[in-house]
Amino acid sequence: MTHETLAPEGETPLSPAAAYRAALLDAGLLIPTGVDGLYGRSETYEQVVTALEQSITRLSAADRPEQMRFPPLLSRQDFLASGYLKGFPHLAGTISCFCGNEADHRRMLACIGEGEDFSQFQQPADVVVTPAACYPIYPVIARRGPLQAGGLVVDVSSWCFRHEPSVDPCRMQMFRMRENVRIGTPDEVVAFRNRWLERGAAWLERLGLPFEAALANDPFFGRAGKLMADGQRDQELKFEMLVPVGSVEEPTACMSCNLHMTHFSEIWPLTTADGAMAHTGCVAFGIDRLTLALFRHHGFTPTSWPAAVRAALFG
Ligand code: ATP
Ligand code: ZN
Ligand code: MG
Repeated sequence: MTHETLAPEGETPLSPAAAYRAALLDAGLLIPTGVDGLYGRSETYEQVVTALEQSITRLSAADRPEQMRFPPLLSRQDFLASGYLKGFPHLAGTISCFCGNEADHRRMLACIGEGEDFSQFQQPADVVVTPAACYPIYPVIARRGPLQAGGLVVDVSSWCFRHEPSVDPCRMQMFRMRENVRIGTPDEVVAFRNRWLERGAAWLERLGLPFEAALANDPFFGRAGKLMADGQRDQELKFEMLVPVGSVEEPTACMSCNLHMTHFSEIWPLTTADGAMAHTGCVAFGIDRLTLALFRHHGFTPTSWPAAVRAALFG
């Protein structure tokens, strides 16, 4: 289906992605806040989100994952240790809080009243916003000691923050990411990644979503980042399932299958049963992007979606 929006005379027409956003806002599926990439969601939208989460739970049940849920915050200390600021300083969101006395409070309000920058009255908090659902688990698992034979699969889901405001509804600042994380030997992690490439493809087909699996890289920052991105591609560490959502020419990564090698076990002592450094990898589902893809391809009324899609989704 198409969502062409005719621009009033004299105005430049919306990009396809911006036109899709306008249609979602018109239909009330997304609720505007005045900030690009920050939306409320309607009841219908959330019904699809819930169904996707449940469908993914069924899809991953054979791996008997251990389910963990964290609030969308990380300890500042773990966040700094993770190296996220090395690769992605432009995406990170940190939190500041007022810790002053009443005189400071009066000065801060006066400063705000003048429309001036009040950040001098704010101190960095001991928490930051989670950039990817899997980040909280590595220090937690490492503290348990060596893994049992066969390693571990962890199921996580979280709201995530990335500072990438956009008119593309698929590029949000706060969005939900579901992940299954494999921690184990290199062979176990590679087998898990390969299994998910097949399993994910079959699942997207059942959901009636056209896609293409493509080698990808993370959006590392700066010139040093270019080298990291090249290395990631050379080693085939990241694959994305690209679905046309806002635009056909630039399809959207709705899932990714990632190998982290020993990135996290170099930071936290993740150890296999026989004492070796564990490897990690994850399959990540962009829950909001998948929701927007389903609306795009099947229409804005889930009750009239094709029976096969509803069966795959609602079980
Ligand atoms: P992109 O290349 O589109 O920026 P990414 O490589 O940053 O995606 P990952 O880091 O692999 O994405 O994140 C896992 C999944 O989370 C993605 O496949 C996508 O579905 C979802 N995701 C990532 N960034 C956003 C965002 N800004 N808004 C909504 N969903 C997102
Ligand atoms: Zn991950
Ligand atoms: Mg990105």
